[in-house]
Amino acid sequence: MGYGNLFQTEQGVVHEAQEILATGFRDENQALGHFQWLLGKYRKLFKQTRRIVQFSDRMQNELNRLNKQLFRSESKYRNLFENAVEGIFRSDPHGGLIDVNPAMAHILGYSSPTHILKKQSVKSALEAQEGYRQLFSVVVKNGGCKQYQTELIRKEGDCIWVEFSAQAIIDETGSVAHIDGLLLDITERKKLHERLTRLAHTDALTGIYNRRCFTEKLQQEVRRARDLQFPLSLIMIDVDYFKSVNDRFGHGVGDQVLKRITVACQKVLRENDIFGRLGGEEFAVILPDVDLPRSGQIAERLREGVEKDDICIADDVVRTTISVGLCTLNGNIADGEGLLRAADMALYRAKHGGRNRVCVYHR
Ligand code: GH3
Ligand code: MG
Ligand code: MG
Repeated sequence: MGYGNLFQTEQGVVHEAQEILATGFRDENQALGHFQWLLGKYRKLFKQTRRIVQFSDRMQNELNRLNKQLFRSESKYRNLFENAVEGIFRSDPHGGLIDVNPAMAHILGYSSPTHILKKQSVKSALEAQEGYRQLFSVVVKNGGCKQYQTELIRKEGDCIWVEFSAQAIIDETGSVAHIDGLLLDITERKKLHERLTRLAHTDALTGIYNRRCFTEKLQQEVRRARDLQFPLSLIMIDVDYFKSVNDRFGHGVGDQVLKRITVACQKVLRENDIFGRLGGEEFAVILPDVDLPRSGQIAERLREGVEKDDICIADDVVRTTISVGLCTLNGNIADGEGLLRAADMALYRAKHGGRNRVCVYHR
């Protein structure tokens, strides 16, 4: 029933009452009859009105309750938005920022959201960044992204690593209306990850590759050399009489000597040579693309470099030498293990030949 018809009955009653009054009464009984009829109608009308008023009261109460609930939930989400540690943003489909929370402003190096939102130059500088642009094309293409990592340049020009998770909000026409997302500063996490990776791959004392990483790289280089038919040489180094260095000067000095030997070798090696400490006072070098004559020269320069490096400890000069075993990949050596064994045999000969010398592996 439309609201226009709501009071039709009541209007009818009033109309009839007006007509009765205009016509007048024949006698008292007729007037009484009309009066009783009117009273009955009035009672009904009164009940109906009371129901409507009660209903309207209930509606008003319900509206008030819903309003309060809405206000509470709005302020709850506003609090979350304002106080979150994570950056929260809403942008257009191209990354043009519409709203950002204080954390997002802080992550990007600004003191408040208005410093980003009100300055076109700031927004343009952000949108011009390659990583930022790529992120939004991924979100539009896939409808969202999870833990998308990229580098961003902050206000002061320093670089940070960030992680985006975002969702494209689609309008009724099926196109992207806007993008809502979260942004985390993961620079510290990245640094820690890099540090852990470095620690897992390198030797704590000398900073060069540890045995595990070195042997992995050796297998890779053997595969590569075989595939490309390139030469590959391996050098194995053992410090001569190192036990006596420890015995005479102490373990701490022994450690310093190992570091000095590492540096002396690094001065001889090229950037793509792979240098590792296999353990104790044993080192090894993978020489990619280097044949036997050339690796012989490099081995000799390593030996010479260590021999000439005098290490001054208090009033003493510590002199050390190394013995070097050398071999080159050929048809008789199957893999990295075989190459290591062959170089070790050559090293054994260098030791037995009097130390401080280079020996080449022969079958
Ligand atoms: P050789 O000429 O036959 O190689 O004699 P060497 O004394 O070098 O050989 P040996 O294997 O008998 O001794 C190696 C010594 O290296 C024994 C060990 O205490 C010492 N060493 C192993 N690792 C370390 C280390 O990390 N730091 C120090 N300072 N010494 C170490
Ligand atoms: Mg040894
Ligand atoms: Mg030794």
